Amino acid sequence: MKILIIEDSPQIIEAISLCFELRWPEISVVSATNGNKGLEMVEAESPDIVILDLGLPDIHGFTVLRDIRSFSDVPTIILTVRGDEIDKVKGLELGADDYIVKPFNHAELLARVRAVLRRTTMPQLKDAEEVVISPELKIDFATPCVYRKDEAVKLTPIEANLLYHLVRNEGKTLSHRYLLERIWGDEYSDATEYLKVYIQRLRNKLEDDPGQPNMLTTERGLGYRFIKPTPRTLANRTYGLRSGSP
Ligand code: CA
Repeated sequence: MKILIIEDSPQIIEAISLCFELRWPEISVVSATNGNKGLEMVEAESPDIVILDLGLPDIHGFTVLRDIRSFSDVPTIILTVRGDEIDKVKGLELGADDYIVKPFNHAELLARVRAVLRRTTMPQLKDAEEVVISPELKIDFATPCVYRKDEAVKLTPIEANLLYHLVRNEGKTLSHRYLLERIWGDEYSDATEYLKVYIQRLRNKLEDDPGQPNMLTTERGLGYRFIKPTPRTLANRTYGLRSGSP
C-alpha cells in the first residue's frame, strides 16, 4: 500500500512519514513538494491514497485535485488550515474523499486514512442502496443507516460492509474466514474476535433482543447467518400484546 503526500512543508511531510513508519509500517510514503510534481507522481506512482495540501507554491490544491480527478479516482484527503468551511465543502465537491484540518495529530490522521480506505474499498454497497427487511426494518447501504420503526441508526463502514455480505447471502451460513477476508482483508482470516465484536454491534442495532438474536444468528463453529424475520414472528411482535380486538 502506498500513500502520496503533496505538501510544501518539509516538517509536515516528515511528521506524516514518521507517523506511518511507526504506526502503520505496511504503508510506504512518497511525497511531492509542489502541485505539478504531485500530479506527475499520481500518474507515475499509482498511490492507493493521496494527502493533498491546498496551499501549494505553484498551483492551488483545488486545481491539483481537479486535474487528479480528470484521470484518477484515487482516494484523496485534503489538508486545510483552521477548518475553513468553504474549503471543506469545495474540496468535497471537487471530489475529495475527506479533509484534515491543520494542525492535526497522528491518531486523527490514521483514523481518516483508515476510514477513507475502508469506504472506498466497498463500492458494491453503493449499488445496493436500500433493502427492506420487514415493515419495521430497513437498511440503507448508501448512507449507511438502519431504520428501525423509522428511527435511524447510523452504521460504520465496517458494520455496513459486514451486514451487506450477510444480507446479500440471506439464509446461508457464511464462515468466519469468508467474512474476515472480505471485510478486513486476507491478513485477518483468523481474527475471529473482530467478527465477534462487530456481529454484537450489529445485533445491538438491529435486533429487538440482542442477547437472543433471531436475525443475525451464530452457527456454532461455522460462522454467521442472516435470517429474514417471517411475517409470523413480526405479527407476534407487533400485535401479540394487543387486547380487545373485535
Ligand atoms: Ca502549504
